[in-house]
Amino acid sequence: MNRILLFLAFGLSTVSIHGQKVTGCGFKVPPRSLLKTNFQSVYEARQIITNMKDTIHWKENFSVREQNGIRNAYATIINKMRWIIYDNNFLEDIDAYASTKWASISVLAHEMGHHYYNHTISGTGSTPPKEIEADGFSGYVMQKLGASLNESVAAITAIASDRASATHPAKKDRVTAITKGWNQAKTETGGNAGGNTGGNTGGGSGGGNTGGNTGNLPSADDASWISLTVQSIKDEKVLLSDDGKNYQAADVKAGEAFVFRFEIYEYGWLKLPYYNGYRTFKLMHGKDYSILWNRRTKNWTVVEVPN
Ligand SMILES: [Zn+2]
Repeated sequence: MNRILLFLAFGLSTVSIHGQKVTGCGFKVPPRSLLKTNFQSVYEARQIITNMKDTIHWKENFSVREQNGIRNAYATIINKMRWIIYDNNFLEDIDAYASTKWASISVLAHEMGHHYYNHTISGTGSTPPKEIEADGFSGYVMQKLGASLNESVAAITAIASDRASATHPAKKDRVTAITKGWNQAKTETGGNAGGNTGGNTGGGSGGGNTGGNTGNLPSADDASWISLTVQSIKDEKVLLSDDGKNYQAADVKAGEAFVFRFEIYEYGWLKLPYYNGYRTFKLMHGKDYSILWNRRTKNWTVVEVPN
């Protein structure tokens, strides 16, 4: 299989609940018109992530990438490397909406939690238990970084969905998870200073497993990914959807594999211009596809690349 020097991970985010958009980690973002515009932040995301690791003494390397336009943040493993990928505009919106810069920091902490608990390895996407674990981790790390409990729950309080879904817990359960993690960190810091450097340095709800989470990275060609290549000399824009209703544009660079996966099912949809409209193709996880120019119909078409 031809994967890949340049992986481009792409977190789709189109679960629709009452017409509202919910991103990969269950964050619902209001329209810009409802946001306060008087809050601006500059994100030193890498530095923040390094600080988080240091506070829990977790010797793990992360790569961090800003990928604006995805309206999301997520954790993934690419080429055996742990990545945290985020949309800076998305984080700024969350901060503005929650009125604290701790909001975006807690989102980064949540994504780090997915790495800490090795959720990124299974490739099965979001589930409520995974989100709860990552939230607990976030609360733990936020306390260690100096955030108050209110600041630690600000992002979730402001933007998480009230109702649970197949992939995401309800807001109140997420707030509870963050609070538990935060309280655990507080207990360690307050009651046991200097005496707790042994086995329990990391990990909200599952403290003590710092060691077990390292050195256990999966193979780079995780079979659950989709690899899409455009056979063209110029970059192309494609439309992708994980629910078949809401589509999101993605730029695919000529000749470079665009590697991604869908969030809801083990498949999703790709739309390409076709005559005067669009043609929709269903793509399955674990397959490689190419977009080819069909000389007969004079249109783009999608073919599966045999393994
Ligand atoms: Zn998450």
